[in-house]
Amino acid sequence: MENKISKIVSLCKRRGFIFPSSEIYGGFGSSYDFGPLGVEMKKNIKQIWWQEMINNYDNIVGLDAAILMNPKVWEASGHLSGFSDELVECKNCKKRFKQEEIKENKCPECDGQLLKPRKFNLMMKTFVGPVEDSASTAYLRAETCQGIYMNFENVLNSMRLKIPFGIAQIGKAFRNEVNPKNFIFRTREFEQMEMQWFCHPKQANKWFDFWKKERINWYLNLGIPKKDLRAVEIPAKKRAHYAQKQVDIEYRFPFGWGEIEGIHNRGDWDLSNHSKYCGKDLKYFDQESKEKYFPYIIETSIGVERSLFAFLVNAYEEVKGGRTQTTKAVKETEVVLKIHKKLAPIKVAVLPLVKNKPKIVKMAKEIYKTLKPHFMCLYDQIGSIGRRYRRIDEIGVLFAITVDFQTLEDKTVTLRNRDTMKQERIKIKDLVKVLKEKLE
Ligand code: ATP
Repeated sequence: MENKISKIVSLCKRRGFIFPSSEIYGGFGSSYDFGPLGVEMKKNIKQIWWQEMINNYDNIVGLDAAILMNPKVWEASGHLSGFSDELVECKNCKKRFKQEEIKENKCPECDGQLLKPRKFNLMMKTFVGPVEDSASTAYLRAETCQGIYMNFENVLNSMRLKIPFGIAQIGKAFRNEVNPKNFIFRTREFEQMEMQWFCHPKQANKWFDFWKKERINWYLNLGIPKKDLRAVEIPAKKRAHYAQKQVDIEYRFPFGWGEIEGIHNRGDWDLSNHSKYCGKDLKYFDQESKEKYFPYIIETSIGVERSLFAFLVNAYEEVKGGRTQTTKAVKETEVVLKIHKKLAPIKVAVLPLVKNKPKIVKMAKEIYKTLKPHFMCLYDQIGSIGRRYRRIDEIGVLFAITVDFQTLEDKTVTLRNRDTMKQERIKIKDLVKVLKEKLE
């Protein structure tokens, strides 16, 4: 199964999804760059999440807060003291590991003796301004939600909101992870999509269950099968320092179950601590009941890259001997990326059947130009048509339009479906409409 990961890593590099960062200098730890297809897929994930949060639910508004904040934020949030991993170092090879990853009290790399565990804070430190002293120390945010809490009052007042309501945000977060690993699963820089739901403390359990269900359905609706998804309730001693209740939504990766999203009941931890530290009362006043209280916060927190990784693993399919049945099955293995239509980076490929017939090529280029403003498209005329179908299947292109000799006579093209490989003839003038319907 690990093999599947190396195949996906290689496909990602070869076909423009994900590249190692600063590769010409030997890379940089666990940093990755998203290539032309990766960035499209990432953008699709963010767009779907954003649109659903903002449009599908009542009372959720968006925010884009700064990454750099007053360091007091992190003192009050408990991240400077409580956001740490237990780190162990091998006496022999000097490699470092998270204590929770150690199964037998020996180094997993060289069987060497491990030194005593010590606390390792995950906040990424930097300096703001020209002087590098403690007064200019700042932190790259370790979670996007603190920016939301900083703006709780601003948003509440400017948007005239009433509890319950939510604030959604997408943005980068940074953690100085001890042991980044498993490709883009654990990196030091990543993007989060977080929604903070402010509610009455008595309603917190109800909303927790509501959001847990909604978030699980999100993955199911985007093609992750039930059998590869689970919700795990985290016991008190393993919970994040701010959480009263925590459920991790996990995906079955080839290397085991891994968290892709956390649902947390943060209680009044954040607002009450910030009130204490900044001296400003951040309680909510209910005009109708005249009650004044700290709202409880239910958080849904998902990693963009981790979920993208899960979607890629889920989509990757190998077919031994090839999928086409028209010739004898003596072909090599074919790869199809069966990505959900909303997530697929490229929706349509336009292919002239042959490249040496100027009329066919011209027609194909015209169709490509017409479709491009409507869908993410690619144009490909290199190699045999079978090879081109395989190339586009490998990157999950949903539909292939082939311009052939018949096109010149009756202005129709073939439209091939990635998953069924079925082809139908469509009039060129109907293409935009038909494709829009199919992509709905
Ligand atoms: P883990 O236990 O794997 O370190 P966590 O419980 O610390 O994760 P949360 O703080 O709940 O994670 O963050 C919410 C989401 O952000 C995670 O479910 C994951 O998708 C993403 N995330 C967290 N840390 C990383 C990381 N180092 N690299 C990539 N994504 C991450």
